[in-house]
Amino acid sequence: MATIIDGKKCAEKILDDIKNRVSNLTQKPGLSVILVGCDPASSVYVKNKEKKALETGFNSSVYKLPENITKEELLALIEKLNKDDTVDGILLQLPLPKHLNPSDFLDKIDPKKDVDGFHPVNSGKLLNNEKPYAISCTPKGIIRLLESYNIQIEGKNAVVIGRSNIVGKPVSMLLLNKNATVTIAHSKTKNLSEITKKADIIISATGRANMVTSDMVKEGAAVIDVGIIRGNDGKLKGDVDFNSVKDVAGFITPVPGGVGPMTIAMLMENTLELHLLNKENQR
Ligand code: NAD
Repeated sequence: MATIIDGKKCAEKILDDIKNRVSNLTQKPGLSVILVGCDPASSVYVKNKEKKALETGFNSSVYKLPENITKEELLALIEKLNKDDTVDGILLQLPLPKHLNPSDFLDKIDPKKDVDGFHPVNSGKLLNNEKPYAISCTPKGIIRLLESYNIQIEGKNAVVIGRSNIVGKPVSMLLLNKNATVTIAHSKTKNLSEITKKADIIISATGRANMVTSDMVKEGAAVIDVGIIRGNDGKLKGDVDFNSVKDVAGFITPVPGGVGPMTIAMLMENTLELHLLNKENQR
């Protein structure tokens, strides 16, 4: 039976540490979140981020913009926040309404305020194995979970299922930079289970419920489930068939309570780190 990786506990420890550090600061880190439209899942995510930011002792502001906002209006807000010295982190909640192209806006956020690590300067630094100003929260949280449980990365076979810009690609780069041998699988990959069966570490980020089954997993492998899918019963599920995979894997993350809490903890950590960087630059 696998060790269950407790993301909630790990995240709480990190948040307690951040809270302590923030209580000693004269100026509080500032996080600004932009929500366009009223997608129900995005509204819940933004609410949780604001709550956690306030609990951590940050200044938090949420800009709720109408669905039909123009490109120029949204760019003007980003520009205003870029110039505001009290704002350390700017997060543009995705997805955006169809008439807005995310890269038109993500590319305009100051890379030193890009708390999600999506700006090409930050993703480029990751690709070059340089230190980004901020590393994407979910990939960073996944690595932190592996490290917290002393799961060796160097020299191991890691298979990442999913190639999105927000999870699959950046987590693959982080694993590669830590000397894993990385395979990226995606919707067009053939014979997925032959590939996953060779993996010491499987990271699944597809959003397809129960697609990773026990016959795809090598005995003792670490299985990290990024997927969040709301089932017909209203409960959250992941990509991994937890009940069967836990009997084969060495380590496994639950959904909920695995990667999710770490994403929020890394968002707070990134905000604090950018705050310290910005204060340093203002001296
Ligand atoms: P996405 O839709 O952008 O990408 C999904 C990826 O899965 C694609 O690259 C696609 O090629 C791959 N894929 C789809 N079906 C596949 C199949 N049958 N076999 C192999 N690969 C397949 O999704 P995303 O934004 O990367 O998010 C993935 C999941 O992770 C979603 O459920 C999302 O809600 C969740 N997520 C969770 C967190 C968190 O904090 N826990 C953060 C971000 C995303």
